[in-house]
Amino acid sequence: MKISCGTCMHHCSLEEGQTGLCRARENRDGQMRAVNYGRITSLALDPIEKKPLYHFYPGSRILSAGSFGCNLRCPFCQNYEISMSGGGTQCIYMEPENLAGRAAELKSAGNIGVAFTYNEPLVGWEYVRDTARLVRAAGMKTVIVTNGSVTDPVLDEILPVTDAMNVDLKGFTEAYYRKLGGDLETVKHFIERAFRTCHVELTTLIVPGENDSEEEMRELAAWAASLDRGIPLHVTRFFQDGK
Ligand code: SF4
Repeated sequence: MKISCGTCMHHCSLEEGQTGLCRARENRDGQMRAVNYGRITSLALDPIEKKPLYHFYPGSRILSAGSFGCNLRCPFCQNYEISMSGGGTQCIYMEPENLAGRAAELKSAGNIGVAFTYNEPLVGWEYVRDTARLVRAAGMKTVIVTNGSVTDPVLDEILPVTDAMNVDLKGFTEAYYRKLGGDLETVKHFIERAFRTCHVELTTLIVPGENDSEEEMRELAAWAASLDRGIPLHVTRFFQDGK
């Protein structure tokens, strides 16, 4: 029997055994399951500025974990080998307790918590939530680096246990978001909710000829400032990658 996934705006309708567009969620025995739960493709102790977060514990480091799966299709993805692997790349399995415990062990090395990054973490939001609860219980911080393309019920689960986010705001037109397989209004709504409960910084990757008009950048920056003039907006440089 087909069931529908409520995690993101795609609302994939999946037959038994079928995996969604993100390659991370599957209809298994009539239930939507995150098949990337606990499957870590990358793990590194990074400077917090690399997330990028410039106004959240500057100078600290954070244990950064990635899995696989993404619900967008940016042709310039810098992490496509893991984001699109569908689990085909080498993974290690870490229970939430293992990841939170590893973060605590690294406190003496300047670690402040766990960052979920490298792929789109929220296509596997259950693992983020379960780990973040333990990270908070240990007195540490949870950071999410995300494309901001999930539904309200997912935000309800993760916002109470999230301390900071960097959200990609990839451009400011629906036409550009459609090219990337996303939806601008979903991302704006996500940011509007997130900044009310946790520290938020935004990142816009400038792709020459695609989202770099002065008019679009002005509109994007004005919208961010209308939420809160204190929200940092990072403008990052394009490198040819992915396709
Ligand atoms: S999270 Fe994945 S399976 Fe669920 S609707 Fe989005 S793309 Fe489809």
